[in-house]
Amino acid sequence: MLIDEYCSAFLRDECEISGSTDRLLNAMFKAARQLIPLLNLEGQGIQDLLHHHIRVLDDVDPYFGPAPPIEHCFRAIEALGFGRDQVRRIRFVPKAGTSTAYASALNIDEDLRVVGNLESGAIWYRILTHEVGHLLGNTFSPRWPSIVSDPIFPYWGELLAELPSLFASTAPVLQAVLEIEGSEAAEVAAAMRRSKAIEFIIGALRAEFSIEVWRDASSSFDEIYHRISAIYGLAEPEPNVFFPPAIKSVTVPLFVHQAFGACVAPILAQFVSNRATKLWQPPIVAPLLIGELYPLWSKRSVVDYLLDNGCELTASELIDSLELI
Ligand SMILES: [Zn+2]
Repeated sequence: MLIDEYCSAFLRDECEISGSTDRLLNAMFKAARQLIPLLNLEGQGIQDLLHHHIRVLDDVDPYFGPAPPIEHCFRAIEALGFGRDQVRRIRFVPKAGTSTAYASALNIDEDLRVVGNLESGAIWYRILTHEVGHLLGNTFSPRWPSIVSDPIFPYWGELLAELPSLFASTAPVLQAVLEIEGSEAAEVAAAMRRSKAIEFIIGALRAEFSIEVWRDASSSFDEIYHRISAIYGLAEPEPNVFFPPAIKSVTVPLFVHQAFGACVAPILAQFVSNRATKLWQPPIVAPLLIGELYPLWSKRSVVDYLLDNGCELTASELIDSLELI
């Protein structure tokens, strides 16, 4: 499929059908702008945000030990109620040279891998639980969508992958996984939430930039880059930090997709958690993810699901879901 068709397919979504995806995107962008002063990040550069979202976890890294947190990841996912057999057949494959990891489901039933430059520390616990989240979604979705043939609703992929990572980053799960005191687990969870709040800003910023690049063909790449940085109250960026023009047509769907994972997953996690708590002993959420959430990509749009659950698509709801206070 040509890149242009691919982008069009991603942007041909609920936005144009109902207008409510546009409302949600605007709420995400507004929330991100409000988060910058809330987290005392005014005047920083985009590069600083990328740096901060990892560095705020430095203090809690020792809890995760010197090795890549693979065993911690397994334990967390099992604590959420996924079967041991389902979780343990996922393999972690070290690959030097990449800074992050990706999930690979070559054969959905038999070959589930997380590939990456596996390192130690809290950020890697988050990355690994997210990547395993992708593989769980692949495993339990009735059939995986093909963008060409299926009536998919965009944006579910990163959202569903992020849910297990968010649940794995809550204090009760961390306490069990890391075998630490409750007060220590609360400290780790707070650092995780702050890091995820910065990721929220990065996600929204990238998505807003990407959509502008797509919509505003008359401005140059750098003009849009500077315009968006100014709107967010961020320092004038170094040129082309993470938006090299050569890949701009690829980054549009990718960044919008990732923004949903970073910005919308926390409120979705609240809905899931509230309902799961009534049915099972916390932190069990797996039956709800398997039975209801994973099949959603072909049934309902993200926005419709949020509206059905009482969300009004406002910036303050999204900020509240981060539980920063
Ligand atoms: Zn992902």
